[in-house]
Amino acid sequence: LFLAFEGGEGAGKTTQARLIAIWLREQGYDVVTTHEPGATKIGMRLRALLLDTAHSGMSAHCEALLYAADRAEHVAKIIDPALERGAVVITDRYIDSSLAYQGAGRGLPTAEIEMLNGWATHGRLPDLTVLLDLAPEAGLSRRARSADRLEAEPLDFHRRVRVGFLGLARAEPERYLVLDATAPFAEIGQQIKDRIREILPD
Ligand code: C5P
Ligand code: MG
Repeated sequence: LFLAFEGGEGAGKTTQARLIAIWLREQGYDVVTTHEPGATKIGMRLRALLLDTAHSGMSAHCEALLYAADRAEHVAKIIDPALERGAVVITDRYIDSSLAYQGAGRGLPTAEIEMLNGWATHGRLPDLTVLLDLAPEAGLSRRARSADRLEAEPLDFHRRVRVGFLGLARAEPERYLVLDATAPFAEIGQQIKDRIREILPD
């Protein structure tokens, strides 16, 4: 089972993903939690390149390729091996982040991002994507002062990212769970668990 958590800055993806992993392990599942960008050795180098404020002028195409390279390595070294041995994989961000940030945010055509990432991941898609939806004003204010390159983007950029995520979820409701990230923390967790229970293997 492959689960992805998506959403803008400060939506609580990392925290919810961790709690869901604990909940699944309590039930005896082998669970691998991972994240993008930067889960592999090469990915850590790519993450540093991608988020360094010194690279604020990076072209959108370069950015899309580096995220796709990080994802290719992530799938090859972490996600595929774990799924093949029967583990549940929970990733904090996946292809939808590229569709939202490099697509809706930077304005690259969605079809191109899909093609690039389909190739990078040989078509590996999550069984469920949890989208924690939050207004960017709220999300960015939850973050620490030391903004990375993307967090330093204008509010309009983050608004396009949010609209991009919501559009993806609307287009494929069977594969998405969209939750209001301002709801009480425990309530969000409960809704995620209810949905995961429906698709858990025995
Ligand atoms: O989720 P995390 O905070 O680790 O993500 C690091 C940064 O990478 C965030 O600022 C996010 O906006 C950015 N990002 C991006 N495009 C992606 C994935 C992440 O711009 N495809
Ligand atoms: Mg995070």
